Amino acid sequence: MTNSSAVIKTNPNHTAATHHVIHSEMLLFKIKSLQDLYKDEVMTIKDMNKLARLLLKHHSPATPDPLKQYDICQNKLQVGVYCLTCGSLPLLRSKGAWICPVCKTASKDAHLYTLNDYYLLIGSVITNKRLRWFCNISSRSIAAKLLTSLDLKQSGMQKKSYL
Ligand SMILES: [Zn+2]
Repeated sequence: MTNSSAVIKTNPNHTAATHHVIHSEMLLFKIKSLQDLYKDEVMTIKDMNKLARLLLKHHSPATPDPLKQYDICQNKLQVGVYCLTCGSLPLLRSKGAWICPVCKTASKDAHLYTLNDYYLLIGSVITNKRLRWFCNISSRSIAAKLLTSLDLKQSGMQKKSYL
């Protein structure tokens, strides 16, 4: 914490935070106390660099598939853009905005959260048809406008698919 006049308070259930959050003027003392506590060299800088290269070499991005993991069919998903205020589903599209029929909240970008869910649940490729299904909209032109607004990279593998 660089603001020296800031008061660091912790939740009584999370007192460990007092060991991890300190004022910046205490940083050198903290480093010294850690050096005193951990005197034995476990790994040389050379070994750490070697390990870092090995980890980077064998890194592969995570590709979780929660639907497969929890044995859920795509057609069992509740689709539609949901309300960020009250969680209702689905919002209605009207005059370029999403309107919640329950709390009447209007949003211009509520679909972004739904499309983030699509990305996490279904994958990184979406088509106009898939967007209409997942966002529960019937208009091809509105779906096309939403896809265009996302500025996604168009893939050549499938007609009008986006990554
Ligand atoms: Zn709502």
